[in-house]
Amino acid sequence: MNKKRIGFTTSLPVEVLYAAGHFPIDLNNIFLTQDSSKHIHDAELKGFPRSLCSWIKGNFSASLASNLDEVIGIVEGDCSNASSLLEMIKEEGLSTYPFGFPASRDYDDLNREISKLEEYYGVTRAMSQEAKVRLDEIRVKLIELDRLSYEEHKVTGAENHIWLVNSSDFQGDPDKYEKELDEFLREARQREPFPVQIRLGFVGVPPIFRNLYESISELGGEVIFNEVQRQFAMPHLEKDLVMQYLVYTYPYSVNERMADIKEQIKKRKLDAIIGYTQSFCHLQIDHLLFKKHLKLPFLNLEGEMPEELDSRTILRLESFFEVHG
Ligand code: SF4
Repeated sequence: MNKKRIGFTTSLPVEVLYAAGHFPIDLNNIFLTQDSSKHIHDAELKGFPRSLCSWIKGNFSASLASNLDEVIGIVEGDCSNASSLLEMIKEEGLSTYPFGFPASRDYDDLNREISKLEEYYGVTRAMSQEAKVRLDEIRVKLIELDRLSYEEHKVTGAENHIWLVNSSDFQGDPDKYEKELDEFLREARQREPFPVQIRLGFVGVPPIFRNLYESISELGGEVIFNEVQRQFAMPHLEKDLVMQYLVYTYPYSVNERMADIKEQIKKRKLDAIIGYTQSFCHLQIDHLLFKKHLKLPFLNLEGEMPEELDSRTILRLESFFEVHG
């Protein structure tokens, strides 16, 4: 069988791609590990506007630079720019497939979308379910890693972020990912708990800043809840594939996300929220509602380019922790 390298623009039922024997690649994760500033520049040379989210430009260039056979764009339930991005990728000669999380959040509608994806890649539901059983063995370990963050304080916010964000594609090799995760968990369990002065939740898409978590720790806070990254790790362990992607909050309305965040605020006894938004992103509007309804001190940070935190943002974090620490 021809093993394809398949890029995708945000979390999707990756079980289908593994069941088909392919190599899934989350374009967001590789964009940041490649020459990300060059990727943005290259996309602008192709005509992408300056006033467009950097992740879109990064995903475009990463698609072309990663020797892919195909790109799946999540055209419903993620980004308002996704359909246009997919058209631009197709224009460059790459094969594309549009996948959508129906806004209805209805079982039958999502079932149809997943079945179409399965048909396209030549797998049955039984095969996808079998892949899910395998991936869930790893997801159980990620739930434990997350618990080590908020209960035992042995995993930092930065480590939590990186493990959970990479579970969208398991870095293309679940066995290797699991082996490294096992080693990490063994080492983390033996650590002394670190002091946590301000218990923070991080709400929003993964940050483009390179050193955000480290800076927060240095300034006296610690992120013990990464909202979207935790969703990527599918922590509910629903037995049924369709149900798993129905309880996944990120693709649906702000209300599903709000309910999940409120539950975790209680469970993790959070003191404050760092809201992160990307410049030129429509999700900034949802953050107005988070700020209004979450009933905790809320600091919104906005990032644009893949870079270290600027001094103004560091000062804003410092004053926020002074007031709420
Ligand atoms: S940050 Fe916002 S605009 Fe950028 S890719 Fe994500 S959803 Fe789209």
